[in-house]
Amino acid sequence: MPEYIDCHAHINFPDYDSDRSEVIERTLSQNTWMVNVGTSNKTSKEVVDLANKYSNGVYAIVGSHPTEEGFNKSEIMELAKDPKVVAIGETGLDYFRDGSLEAQRDIFESQIEIANEIGKPLMLHIRGSSGSMDAYEDTICILKEKAKVSGNAHFFAGTVDVAKKFLEIGFSISFTGVITFTKDYDEVIKYVPVESILSETDCPFVAPNPFRGKRNEPLYVKEVVSRLAEIKGLELEEVQTILVENALRLFSIDK
Ligand SMILES: [Zn+2]
Repeated sequence: MPEYIDCHAHINFPDYDSDRSEVIERTLSQNTWMVNVGTSNKTSKEVVDLANKYSNGVYAIVGSHPTEEGFNKSEIMELAKDPKVVAIGETGLDYFRDGSLEAQRDIFESQIEIANEIGKPLMLHIRGSSGSMDAYEDTICILKEKAKVSGNAHFFAGTVDVAKKFLEIGFSISFTGVITFTKDYDEVIKYVPVESILSETDCPFVAPNPFRGKRNEPLYVKEVVSRLAEIKGLELEEVQTILVENALRLFSIDK
């Protein structure tokens, strides 16, 4: 069993072009696993190829980000059947950037259909318009209506009330390095049971303290887990074990 799992990484991004295999190998050598997330048809193919280069510890999620164009359902469906693919996404609703909300909704629903058919969970990207929970409310409404699978709300930036609604439909919530440099999420972290939390980096973005401002990488997930334990007032080892079990369970990965 790994000590840590970074449940949302983008090691396929150009930020790692010069040292990708070194980053992956140093992560695995420290008993940390990673799940790389596709954001388009092209990057979904990349994360599947990357996962298949390693016998263990590198997994993939395939799908299309809400603000990405060129989504092709049958291609994602084919990729989704790969045994290294553990979820569908990142998909959801993003009202922060301009664009057609109807198109976003369509590709989100298509990806829910893929997840339902393949029987794999959803990795959600949700971002409200400034200061609003609108995208979260709409996402929950669509999930209640369409989703037959469970999933995880990545980079959670919602309120306690929104978190409660995700827990009610059996979804988990994940936090990034942001929680190491702001106290904005302490209240929601205290509210959500450890059994419903996943750890992630969203690397190369938002490196946690003490690496803030630098390129992020999966190994830094340790900083996120330490901070979660601190906020929860629990022993690090206990939180570490539960978070790994949560990820293995959601993604149906054998130890
Ligand atoms: Zn992401």
